[in-house]
Amino acid sequence: MASPLISAVGGIALTRHQVERATARRSDDEWLAAAWADPATRVLVIEDGSALARIGDGAAELIFTEPGLAPDGTRFLLGVDADSVAYFGVGGLLPDLAGQPDVRKAGLRDAGPLLSDRDAGLLTHAVALANWHAVSAHCSRCGAPTEPAMAGHSRRCPADGSEHFPRCDPAVIMLVTDQDDRCLLARNAQWPKGRVSILAGFVEPGESAEQAVAREVHEETGVNVGAVSYAGSQPWPMPHSLMLGFRAAATSTQISVDADEIAEARWYSRADLAGAITSGDLLMPPSLSISRWLIETWYGAELPRRPAT
Ligand SMILES: [Zn+2]
Repeated sequence: MASPLISAVGGIALTRHQVERATARRSDDEWLAAAWADPATRVLVIEDGSALARIGDGAAELIFTEPGLAPDGTRFLLGVDADSVAYFGVGGLLPDLAGQPDVRKAGLRDAGPLLSDRDAGLLTHAVALANWHAVSAHCSRCGAPTEPAMAGHSRRCPADGSEHFPRCDPAVIMLVTDQDDRCLLARNAQWPKGRVSILAGFVEPGESAEQAVAREVHEETGVNVGAVSYAGSQPWPMPHSLMLGFRAAATSTQISVDADEIAEARWYSRADLAGAITSGDLLMPPSLSISRWLIETWYGAELPRRPAT
């Protein structure tokens, strides 16, 4: 049984949020202009997937600026909070850090788990949009320069009138278990020895997410799966994915890895896994990831801690 602590996907760092997206305001030019003119409006500057954050003592908070001090760059509305404060993002150069020793450039991987719900949601949303704008300057139909529209949530081509929306690539990540309720973990060929996770891969055009689960598991490990059920999702804007989490029941247990992608894979009982983590033999995915959440929902508790090195 999963503990209440880890039973909700909302506990994963990048699924937390607090600021309402205010989608109806995106086409309200008068409201947008007033919000940008209001010094109470908070602006989060994003440069190369990072913002400024104050980090210390196991917690982090984003550093916002007021609109008048924001750099030039593509602007997008992130939302409005319960106190009617508007939040915008700007893709541009981060303000100067001089004189603020505890403030530094931080991305989702390092600051994500340390941020409040409000800040984690804002940074995830802002990084996703900034990454998309950064590679969408030209129309994919005719090549003309495109312009931001809908408060930065779409782009429009002035030459042919086409509208372009933020791209998001679906990927599947799946916890595969066998008849004895053992979990399949694998080490990617790029990872150091001892680091393992569950299997994952991109959904191909014309393929359902469930089909992608079965295909990826078979391609990477030779294992066949039967029943596939959806478990939860997490945005992963690095650069532009949506991770769709599944549980899959194996109908075979023989492992034959695709050596180009997977260095090794094996089945773990809960006792096997706990022993391998506490002995220092295995390194599990970080708390930021949906993979760790899926593994913990199977394990039934938070994973044991790795011994201090
Ligand atoms: Zn065009």
